[in-house]
Amino acid sequence: MANTQRKCPYKNCKYGNVVDISTDEYTKVGSRYYHSECLLEKRASEAKRDCGYSHCKHGGVVDTQTDEYIEENKRCYHVDCYSEKKAIAEIIDFWYREIDEDVVFNQLQRVLRELIYKRGFEAEYVLYAIKKKANVLNYPSGIYYVVGNKRLKANWRIIREAERLKLVKEASKKNAKMEPVFKQKEEKKSNWTTDIFGGI
Ligand SMILES: [Zn+2]
Ligand SMILES: [Zn+2]
Repeated sequence: MANTQRKCPYKNCKYGNVVDISTDEYTKVGSRYYHSECLLEKRASEAKRDCGYSHCKHGGVVDTQTDEYIEENKRCYHVDCYSEKKAIAEIIDFWYREIDEDVVFNQLQRVLRELIYKRGFEAEYVLYAIKKKANVLNYPSGIYYVVGNKRLKANWRIIREAERLKLVKEASKKNAKMEPVFKQKEEKKSNWTTDIFGGI
């Protein structure tokens, strides 16, 4: 290797794993020299992880650089995948504790799969409906009826909307620091003396 050549350690390097530090764009990491492009690609591929939820809603891959995600027990989940998984676990737990400890698990599972994966019900809503109507539920097939309850559906929409507004509020609080900048700009724009007299 020539004096100015180094080995690019990226396994999918497009340049024969040789970096010429006198001509190539490179990034040094510790004592290693990467083509800058190779390092970016390496980091992007490392940022991709399998979603720990077997019914992932996003093709099974979490991009930790761009997706919102949650880590638990060394596994990585999209936020919505995580909450669906949690809600289903909670439904099952609730059913055993509060409704029927002798339930045939496969029956309960079949109903939940049908509702959530096939008919598109939100798992959190199914959990909510079951909790609200626990007193009339004896068998898993009863869940089909309670999730169709119009009042429960309407209440659920209200709950979700309230949650959404809360998030919007929190987000705007975070941005509050930027407000003075916007205000200043607006005041300048609407300064009538400037408009009429072209500035004094
Ligand atoms: Zn390279
Ligand atoms: Zn996922």
